[in-house]
Amino acid sequence: MTKTLLIKNARVVVTMDDQRREINDGAIYVRGNVIEQVGPTAELPQTADEVIDATGHVVTPGLVNTHHHMYQSLTRVIPAAQNGELFNWLTNLYPIWANLNSEMVHVSTLTAMSELILSGCTTSSDHLYIYPNDCKLDDSIEAASKIGMRFHAARGAMSVGQSKGGLPPDRVVEDEKAILKDTQRLIETYHDAGRHAMQRVVVAPCSPFSVSQDLMKEAALLARSYGVSMHTHLAENVNDIAYSREKFNMTPAEYAEDCGWVGHDVWHAHCVQLDDDGVYMFAKTGTGVAHCPCSNMRLASGIAPVRKMVDAGVPVGLGVDGCASNDGAHMLGEARQAMLLQRVGFGPDAMTARQALELATLGGAKVLNRDDIGAIKPGMSADIVMFKLDQIAFAGALHDPVAALVFCTPSNVNYSVINGKIVVKDGLLQTIDLPLVIERHNQLASDLALATGTRKAA
Ligand SMILES: [Zn+2]
Repeated sequence: MTKTLLIKNARVVVTMDDQRREINDGAIYVRGNVIEQVGPTAELPQTADEVIDATGHVVTPGLVNTHHHMYQSLTRVIPAAQNGELFNWLTNLYPIWANLNSEMVHVSTLTAMSELILSGCTTSSDHLYIYPNDCKLDDSIEAASKIGMRFHAARGAMSVGQSKGGLPPDRVVEDEKAILKDTQRLIETYHDAGRHAMQRVVVAPCSPFSVSQDLMKEAALLARSYGVSMHTHLAENVNDIAYSREKFNMTPAEYAEDCGWVGHDVWHAHCVQLDDDGVYMFAKTGTGVAHCPCSNMRLASGIAPVRKMVDAGVPVGLGVDGCASNDGAHMLGEARQAMLLQRVGFGPDAMTARQALELATLGGAKVLNRDDIGAIKPGMSADIVMFKLDQIAFAGALHDPVAALVFCTPSNVNYSVINGKIVVKDGLLQTIDLPLVIERHNQLASDLALATGTRKAA
């Protein structure tokens, strides 16, 4: 018998369904890993195998994070990388990341996923693009299955080192044939194309300034032969644009199109400096964008034209980006920053709280090319999060608890259900021992700094 779960008495259920209904005194009935019924508590079944009383909670679809580098949780706030723009920041960090190992990837992924899950995220992509020593993408995938997060593992790669005109040092780049072979192995081993999949693999060379045009094209052919999605960084700041012009004589959007990197199966991180022709091309082809407002502010990359993209019909989701360029990876906080940053750039009506929440749910789902997450309605995956309203952050805001989620200080979840399983209960992760993970994470971060000489032994 498939187990059932009832969430009832919610102050409001934000459905993100086709009518964008917000149901007061709402309830959700889940069978196995799928939502079966949604409606007022009085109209739904009154019992189930498991029942959560959501009195005093706002209930939303699990948030979707479309861009991250989880290993970077080991290198937050590195002094030499605190105040630079993208290229300067990267050249300070590459030598540290060159000392990563397999355990570091595994443990930092657990840490990053814990932080995301507690902040309301239930599905995340992770773009791992550096594989020194014994690092493998398998290390991240195993972490995701241990903690119980829905995961799109992006097999990143760098192949053009400094000696060939790229940005990364030669010792952290890989051979292109080996990259493609390992990517194929990962797809064949882990990719699940089915509805409600917990594990998907993404083909994801790192950026135009760290891989060749050949690899971009070959990667697209490989991805499409397996029907998997593709992801990279694009048009992040003005230096990124200058590199594209100088090296390829094209704008980043033209370069993406030239390499076959447009379409509903493709999403690009940042696109802060995407020009109007690029926005139009992305809209026409259904190419997605992962908007990362905190990282864009941290590195002073600029303000992405998200309002313009959304109006044009570009699929846009949100990403916290790696923890070396957004040292606080809070998914609900990212929605708040998305709203605030659009207002700085384009006026007070450029984005509402509900629009920001939509980018963080439905928007992210569309960018990841999924129609089974991002909304609470029958037939969707049971990814549901609950925020408790009787906290200091929401005091005085209860007349509009949905907008309060985004306007007020970002809050952690009280409950998180992922794929029908309760992963957070009473504010605590149920699947791992978080204090132990944090302790090990801090030890590994210290080892990494010591190995690189950025920190002296005590
Ligand atoms: Zn990134």
